[in-house]
Amino acid sequence: MKIAGVKGMNDVLPADVARWQEMERVAREVFALYGYREVRTPAVEHAQLFARGVGEATDIVNKEMYVFEDKGEELLALRPEGTAGTVRAFIEHGAYVEGPQKWFYMGPMFRREKPQKGRYRQFHQIGCEAFGIAEPFLDAEQIALVADYFARLGVGARLKLNSVGDAACRPAYLAELKAYLGGRKAELCPDCIDRLERNPLRVLDCKVESCQPVLNGAPRLLERLCDGCRTHFDQVKVALDALGVRYEVDGRLVRGLDYYVRTAYELTSDALGSQSAVAGGGRYDRLVETLGGPPTPGIGFALGEERLAMILEKAGKAPPAQGPAVFFVSADAEGALEALRRAAELRRGGIACDLDPRGGKLKAQFKQAERVGARYALVLGGAEVQSGQAKLKDLSSREETPVALAQLAGFLASLPRP
Ligand code: ATP
Ligand code: MG
Repeated sequence: MKIAGVKGMNDVLPADVARWQEMERVAREVFALYGYREVRTPAVEHAQLFARGVGEATDIVNKEMYVFEDKGEELLALRPEGTAGTVRAFIEHGAYVEGPQKWFYMGPMFRREKPQKGRYRQFHQIGCEAFGIAEPFLDAEQIALVADYFARLGVGARLKLNSVGDAACRPAYLAELKAYLGGRKAELCPDCIDRLERNPLRVLDCKVESCQPVLNGAPRLLERLCDGCRTHFDQVKVALDALGVRYEVDGRLVRGLDYYVRTAYELTSDALGSQSAVAGGGRYDRLVETLGGPPTPGIGFALGEERLAMILEKAGKAPPAQGPAVFFVSADAEGALEALRRAAELRRGGIACDLDPRGGKLKAQFKQAERVGARYALVLGGAEVQSGQAKLKDLSSREETPVALAQLAGFLASLPRP
């Protein structure tokens, strides 16, 4: 019986993994430049963590979370995002006593959404969280990090910036927004009507065409920020300008999660079609406290690796070639054993190489060498073993270079990387 993979959960095959490794390698490199250190937390947490940390009113917890009872003992959930678990670990291990911390993570997340292009049930996020600093320059620094990351990968993205207010100014705004939207309920889509009660800010985020006239006319939080939020927002912009990071202010940008205050940002790309967001972030100054830690401000973002991979692919950014330096082609039994020995020697010296233990026709072995992306092929038979001399054939230029077998490792190591 053939058993298929689970709907909305994808395999990343070896041909594509090179791109993923590149995204992750560059992330590690850039994040280190900014002082972020990696944390690894479990894929499973108590369901309660997300109910409290993400918010019961959010779609993520409400509709999309994979929850299961572990042998009748406790209610667990596959993590739908990385922030709640990271904050839990931050609190559980008392990391806050050491002062401000900058952490990052990468790994699979799970949401039972309707699978479509750019939206899956298992997907992967890379995210950063900075704890312990409430000042706006931290926000700007983190946004600059994301911009740097995209620049290093060689792709562009649009950066949208907003402030979602805080406990001082948001409640009054939400009341005003609810009253306005309630008055025009008839013009809203069913999702918006549903969110109106549970998560009114999220209504502003609706992409349904028929809702747009109502949403464009909605009262604007940016015009109703309290002094603290206004100054914070202005300082973030001042710092971004100083850093040369380009952004657009988008008063309708909100984050779907309850714990966000002040800075909200998002990166989008036209290469993605309708699921245009590749990364989203924001400040969550009350989250650590909500999850039982001491009052600790924080700001973080998460980016979707599947969507970033799509952007890179669209932009024609090929991952670095990963073929072996040399492929040994054996002409006879003696050559086959010599190939095995030489391959082991090269590998000990850190040089990637390969061979086909089936031996067989030279032509077939050369074909195999090309298929695995080898740079050179080297034929070994009794004659080469006797003389200690062989020919290294460049598989793209077809040029042949004589080489002493004893000098093979040194010769390959001295070549400039292609
Ligand atoms: P969207 O509006 O696209 O649903 P979101 O607000 O749910 O996004 P976040 O929870 O902020 O997204 O997650 C950050 C990033 O993770 C998104 O910008 C996206 O790149 C990625 N992401 C979120 N959900 C999925 C999914 N189901 N499949 C693939 N990537 C996802
Ligand atoms: Mg979503």
